[in-house]
Amino acid sequence: MKYLFSAFVFIFMSFSANAAALSKDNFKCGNVKVKYINSNYDGGGAYYDERQNVIAMNKHYFRKLSSSMQRFIFLHECGHARGVDKEYDADKYAYREARRLNLMLNVTEICKEMEDKRRCSNFKTYVNAAN
Ligand SMILES: [Zn+2]
Repeated sequence: MKYLFSAFVFIFMSFSANAAALSKDNFKCGNVKVKYINSNYDGGGAYYDERQNVIAMNKHYFRKLSSSMQRFIFLHECGHARGVDKEYDADKYAYREARRLNLMLNVTEICKEMEDKRRCSNFKTYVNAAN
């Protein structure tokens, strides 16, 4: 899943900005705009566009994901929008935010989707330490 590994250059922003919030049909990330794109391109699930300050989600792709995966991907991109640069750190941001919002994440499933196994073990280590 290449979308998780897209690297963009991010300007560091304050972490104390509006917190992320999302529900089943409602993804929110502070003042960041969120839009769905219609694309049959399967390689891209979501990305943050810094220039337009928008998180774009591929509707076609998102529809096929469990809500746990959707949350994780969205919150990961929200982390990037908040200035979290590194992939590992955006994963941790997503986990922290999900916990804060009392949203369940399926860590095993998320890890399975990560092509980079070091990224998965890094994530698991973080999750275990947080619990
Ligand atoms: Zn990322």
